[in-house]
Amino acid sequence: MENLRDIHRAWGRTLSLAPPYQQPETPPTMPPPPPTLDQSPPEWTIWGRTLSLSLPYQHPETPPPPPLEEESQPQTSRKRKHSSNPKKQNWAETINPPFPWATCKRAKVYTIHHLLSKGFNTISGKVECGKCDFQSVLEFDLNEKFNEVVEFIENNKNDMNDRAPEAWMNPMLPKCEKCGQENAMNPIITKKRTINWLFLLLGQMIGCCKLQHLKYFCKHSNIHRTGAKNRLIYLTYVDLCRQLQPDLVLLKQL
Ligand SMILES: [Zn+2]
Repeated sequence: MENLRDIHRAWGRTLSLAPPYQQPETPPTMPPPPPTLDQSPPEWTIWGRTLSLSLPYQHPETPPPPPLEEESQPQTSRKRKHSSNPKKQNWAETINPPFPWATCKRAKVYTIHHLLSKGFNTISGKVECGKCDFQSVLEFDLNEKFNEVVEFIENNKNDMNDRAPEAWMNPMLPKCEKCGQENAMNPIITKKRTINWLFLLLGQMIGCCKLQHLKYFCKHSNIHRTGAKNRLIYLTYVDLCRQLQPDLVLLKQL
């Protein structure tokens, strides 16, 4: 039990009993009216650093899909996306959102404002022990964990030099509650299109991704994807934070 409490303290709740998220056949239906800033949930008020909150909210939020700075196309369209890369694009423009907090665009999540307004206060993901293969589901408080990521960037931005620091390169993972192995519970990553990016961000576990996963993220986020792993991890953190909160002043300074 002591081990469990450790995990709870460090990682929020561990939900061994929670069923893994089943990918829906169709994107989750959510009521369309886009929230305005005036209707922000109360949690929003703790975002003291979001100095630009009074600006008009820029992100269209009629799900699915949010355009997220990309050209908008009909959601059912499988039209090829034009690209600055003349190479033939051999992937479909939209996918089935792998999680309710993910959009139908690859490697794109909804904004935190949108998610909180829709009641997504916690974000879950599957993890597996590297020693005994025990699997469980971790659940992160969206607001609290995003706040931790932003705080980390704030405290380390001057030392990072656009590179992921050690804590991001080799994240401390939760202990296995079955075999007791420390630093054991790795996020389960299978297909690239179903990577739980928001979960990885909140748990600061993006460093668990392989280079090919990071390149996939960068490719679909229009980020130059040649670079050392610490560079790609850094860029992935920053881009995901921007997806979550496009108007965060801190990110504009990076
Ligand atoms: Zn184990």
